[in-house]
Amino acid sequence: MSVSHKPLIVITGASSGIGLATARLFSAHGHALLLLARRLEKMQALDLPNTLALPVDVTDRAALTAAVQQAEQRFGPADAIVNNAGVMLLGEITRQDPTQWDQMLDVNVKGLLNGVYATAKGMTERKRGSIINISSVAGRKSFPNHVAYVGSKFAVHGLSENLREELSAHNVRVTTIAPGAVETELLGHTTDEDIKTGYQAWKAEMGGKVLSAEDVANAIHYAYAQPEGVCIREIVLAATRQQA
Ligand code: NDP
Repeated sequence: MSVSHKPLIVITGASSGIGLATARLFSAHGHALLLLARRLEKMQALDLPNTLALPVDVTDRAALTAAVQQAEQRFGPADAIVNNAGVMLLGEITRQDPTQWDQMLDVNVKGLLNGVYATAKGMTERKRGSIINISSVAGRKSFPNHVAYVGSKFAVHGLSENLREELSAHNVRVTTIAPGAVETELLGHTTDEDIKTGYQAWKAEMGGKVLSAEDVANAIHYAYAQPEGVCIREIVLAATRQQA
């Protein structure tokens, strides 16, 4: 039986922003895709070939694992997972509703680990695969009103480096992608209007020229497309005019 597509790529948070741009790019390169997010219709609207889109919340470990199994039965083993799903709920720490901390840690950290759980074992058995974790410049340094978000992204940096060390013996690559400000829906979920206004002013200081989701998708594909023996450990990218 001839296979009409390149290997399966799993992308979480594929319904908007960076994940959606990454889905388009890998599909244009001929890959089969498993797209996961809560909003199914946004992923279906992409209408990409050899693509399974499922409405999965990454905090649901069983659902995420079952989705990967379903896609692998149809398209063959997952060659990469892009753990991209994330939320950024900025807040002043003494006033912020702690349930927002819970959500960021649940999605950005535990949801990402669930993606690792669903794919890493198979990759180590096949001695091949790439785990690409989307962190942030906020995974390397602090920003005002970012306490819990920065905490979640420092966790992504830390666990990714530890994971890379542990999976290297199995010929499995782990890459951390750390973007600066990107024009997506991400800020829209922050509930504090003053903080949102301040963030927009910060972006305006850069001449309004922050990264596009496509810029980040290109970096993700660059890391994936290296020869199997080359592991791009980390890519940090930001708008030229972003100072912090
Ligand atoms: P968007 O808000 O545009 O996209 C976030 C994606 O995550 C959506 O597809 C959303 O889908 C998904 N998501 C959120 N919660 C869940 C959940 N519980 N289960 C499944 N999917 C979920 O933002 P970005 O594209 O900017 O964000 C992508 C990643 O990039 C995040 O990890 C973010 O932290 C990181 N990042 C973004 C930067 C920026 O400036 N935009 C800078 C640095 C890093 P749905 O709502 O349909 O579930």
